[in-house]
Amino acid sequence: MRELAPAKINLCLYVGPLRPDGYHELVSVMQAIDLADELELTDSDATADDVRCPDVEGPNLAAHALAAFREHTGWDGPPQLLQIEKRIPVAAGLGGGSADAAATLRLLARRSGRGSHAALLEIATSLGADVPSQLQPGRWLVQGFGERLTPLADAEPLGIVLLPSSAKLSTAAVYAQADRLGLTRGADELAAALAALDPNSPEPVNDLEQAARSLEPTIDGAIETVRREGAARALVSGSGPTVVGLFPTLQDARLAVDRLNAAGVDAKAARAIHNQSPP
Ligand code: ATP
Repeated sequence: MRELAPAKINLCLYVGPLRPDGYHELVSVMQAIDLADELELTDSDATADDVRCPDVEGPNLAAHALAAFREHTGWDGPPQLLQIEKRIPVAAGLGGGSADAAATLRLLARRSGRGSHAALLEIATSLGADVPSQLQPGRWLVQGFGERLTPLADAEPLGIVLLPSSAKLSTAAVYAQADRLGLTRGADELAAALAALDPNSPEPVNDLEQAARSLEPTIDGAIETVRREGAARALVSGSGPTVVGLFPTLQDARLAVDRLNAAGVDAKAARAIHNQSPP
């Protein structure tokens, strides 16, 4: 069984107060894009589940998802081999680990016939802030620490240019830096941002941007670069360091990428994907 795990970008990200559980309260418009990891799940003859993801060192979030699915649903089917081919840059603000965890849950639900939508959401929430919204890739208004989801209408046609970075940023380190720099909002300010938000065309505000830029100064140049190529809006995705340029059409984005690649700049065109049906 195969499944794609689409990356996400944050079209806006407002960061509110730190909660007692250590997470920040968020308001974000999250958009899934057609840059995706590829997952394959097969029954295996081994004695235990095995997750192979050569591009990621250390514990894999998809392995946590597999263990959590078995635990939560009681499924005791045969050991599974899960192979992940990474296409989404790692620690880049594109939610790659969360996308893989969410896609793993979709695969296991298909394989086992278990896991109601509510159960999958509960498991996803236990795995991390970005996992619930990526369970059903599409466009979401995300609140709470990432678990309160409101579906949004499909986006207007949009061309996206991604400028990946060779640097990696840890999400936790970027949030900590935002706290140190006093960049987060109080509850009232967060509510005001939500009230003023147009989810169809959000202002390109990312409250983590300054924190990410201070930890990874090359982001400044990437934002300049994508603006110079004609991006109508430019911002850092999530905790960075990936920079996103928004263009009116996919064709505009592709032309900008051609020019950037010709000048030796690593850039990729992507498009927003349509809202997918529940797993
Ligand atoms: P987010 O935007 O969700 O905060 P991110 O996109 O910045 O996260 P990820 O690519 O999800 O970052 O990786 C964050 C860390 O998670 C990496 O440093 C990596 O070690 C770990 N990780 C565990 N499993 C995976 C996976 N399947 N893919 C990528 N990273 C993984």
